[in-house]
Amino acid sequence: MGRKRTTKDGISAAFPELARGREAGCVAFLKDLISIPSPSRGERLACERVVREMEELGFDEVRIDAMGNVLGRLGSGPRVLAFDAHIDTVGITDPTAWQFDPFRGVIQDGVLYGRGASDQKAGLAALVHGLAMLREHGIPEELTLWLTATVLGEECVGLSWQYLVREEGLRPEAVVIAMPSRLRICHGQRGRMELEVETTGVSTHGAHPDRGENAVYAMAPIVQGVARLHRRLAGEDRAPGPGSVTVTEIRSESPAMTAVPDRCVIHLDRRVAVGEEREAVLTELAELPEAAAAGADVRLLQYGNASWRGLEYPTDMFFPAWETPGGDPAVRAAVEAARRVLGREPEFHRSDFSSTGCTTAGLFGIPTVGFGPADEIHSHTNLDQVALAQLAPAMAFYALFPVVYAGLGPR
Ligand SMILES: [Zn+2]
Repeated sequence: MGRKRTTKDGISAAFPELARGREAGCVAFLKDLISIPSPSRGERLACERVVREMEELGFDEVRIDAMGNVLGRLGSGPRVLAFDAHIDTVGITDPTAWQFDPFRGVIQDGVLYGRGASDQKAGLAALVHGLAMLREHGIPEELTLWLTATVLGEECVGLSWQYLVREEGLRPEAVVIAMPSRLRICHGQRGRMELEVETTGVSTHGAHPDRGENAVYAMAPIVQGVARLHRRLAGEDRAPGPGSVTVTEIRSESPAMTAVPDRCVIHLDRRVAVGEEREAVLTELAELPEAAAAGADVRLLQYGNASWRGLEYPTDMFFPAWETPGGDPAVRAAVEAARRVLGREPEFHRSDFSSTGCTTAGLFGIPTVGFGPADEIHSHTNLDQVALAQLAPAMAFYALFPVVYAGLGPR
């Protein structure tokens, strides 16, 4: 056993160099992924492309589950680790606003451009090739590695992993997410909620507005109350950052443009810190003096769209914040793997986004870390991109992480 580990450590020291030798294959795969549009609920072709790559690279088991997620397995040891990247991307509004075709994977000056390059196709390509590299040199025998290329990440972050844990019985002891962290380590993110607040009124003819109750007038002070709530939240000292709230839509209904509206709804984007629970957030809004005075209805929205395979898996739009302690083996392994790959002390990354970690760590308490190529500042923009020089270090990191993690011994 001792000898075997020594051998493995010897090989793993060469991973950064070996990864550079495999960069071309990773880039070719990434270009293919970029050239296959994969909006949420339209990921089928991209999923099939991932299956083919995994099969060609010799994964031990590759399949697509009933939701449409791709699962690739390496090894069959008793300790399970998982690596995740979502395969869907946000869409394109105006293609002419793009300097480079969003679906061609154009490379210029060492940068590859295209929709989803940063979020999270570069991470996915590096994961597939990084773990395949580890396979060639031996998966630590106590480990099983699952690579999940998951769907619906943009529309309903982490729903895929609710399915994988509850329905597929996947219970890894740690999860690595290939998020665009620019090779920095992320071990916590804010979560989020999508909410609506509704006021009702009494409609009358617009010629006699005083005979009715205008639902928009009832809503107006609530909007101000939400703004005030945000200022209070922003001043709180919370991990991994203070909560926030903003109105993202306002709409009203009226029998006619010549009548007083009897219904008004605002949509809220609420970011939550660790420890902010759904009921408390709902109560806090309902108890805003303006909302209480108007008798407003505050509700959490649900997600219920069918996946590309036709599966409906409804869930509350509540994605809790998460933080994996710095002393957890997952964070320690990430720090050590990054140190060896980068040849320096790694940096930590405070992501502004939410990710699958909201489910794996926030909902299920599975220690989670994020690490990947590309920078989230380019995600969802028409300069979506990845610096190709970050692919090989990311591949080496994913190959090294299981070796270092296993070397820390049992949890
Ligand atoms: Zn995104």
